[in-house]
Amino acid sequence: MSIARLSETNKRSKPIPTISVQSLTGCAGELLVILENLQKMLPYVRIQSFPFAQSKNSDEPVDITFVEGSVSNPHDLEKLRAIRLRSKRVVAVGNCAVWGCVQKGACSRLAVEEMRNQVYGAESKIEVMPASRIEDHVQVDVKLSGCPIDSTQLLAVAASMLKDHLPYVTKKPVCLECKLRENPCILIEQDLPCLGPVTAAGCGALCPSVGAPCYGCWGPSEEAQMDAMANVLMEKGFSLKEILTRLQAFGAPPELFTRLNQLQDQADSN
Ligand code: SF4
Ligand code: SF4
Repeated sequence: MSIARLSETNKRSKPIPTISVQSLTGCAGELLVILENLQKMLPYVRIQSFPFAQSKNSDEPVDITFVEGSVSNPHDLEKLRAIRLRSKRVVAVGNCAVWGCVQKGACSRLAVEEMRNQVYGAESKIEVMPASRIEDHVQVDVKLSGCPIDSTQLLAVAASMLKDHLPYVTKKPVCLECKLRENPCILIEQDLPCLGPVTAAGCGALCPSVGAPCYGCWGPSEEAQMDAMANVLMEKGFSLKEILTRLQAFGAPPELFTRLNQLQDQADSN
């Protein structure tokens, strides 16, 4: 059955929760995951707005809005504030919304205007802002990271919220899932720069399970020990600059890197 027909059927039978799916600056990966899982949610919700997937949308108040993307320009910010005003609950979905992702990582190394000029030319009038998380601007009720988000986590979050419970989303490190899969540790055994110890779980340790190092796309785990991670990687011969680039690539907040940035500044000034 089509999204529109199922949604219409739900509308006629009884009042059920309404949801909206909106995007700011991102790659639409989260929208695709939600779209792929929509058939499982449709018996329990009415889709009020999902511009990526349907042409008929409404800006009426809504129970839950899933927001993908970072705030990277004034239009994003205006749109996000309007979303917050009309939504009972706001769920940040994906690394862009939760941490700022690669665009925030890039802004930690280069001024955003400089990047705009390199991409669009020095004459460009496109308005830009340093990429930021949506919780830097509005209250967020639930944060579900991933790049893109994991389907099982998405459905678990949706199921909890439809029962009016705030869901539990693990922030334990990827190493936990990696050990549950009985993978050999490629950080210890192969000296690969695996960021599993400081990255939030949720993906099921996808990369280390195929022998590739985790590059941190889920964002930082709870109490991520960046200094200790950097020490381990330095002992394995990686430069401070490379370590910082890897650790900051997916928008981890600057306060986690105070000491490492000081060390890099000292190294640059020598
Ligand atoms: S391979 Fe990576 S994720 Fe797995 S245990 Fe080692 S450091 Fe952790
Ligand atoms: S192992 Fe790391 S890089 Fe790979 S999907 Fe999981 S969080 Fe992302």
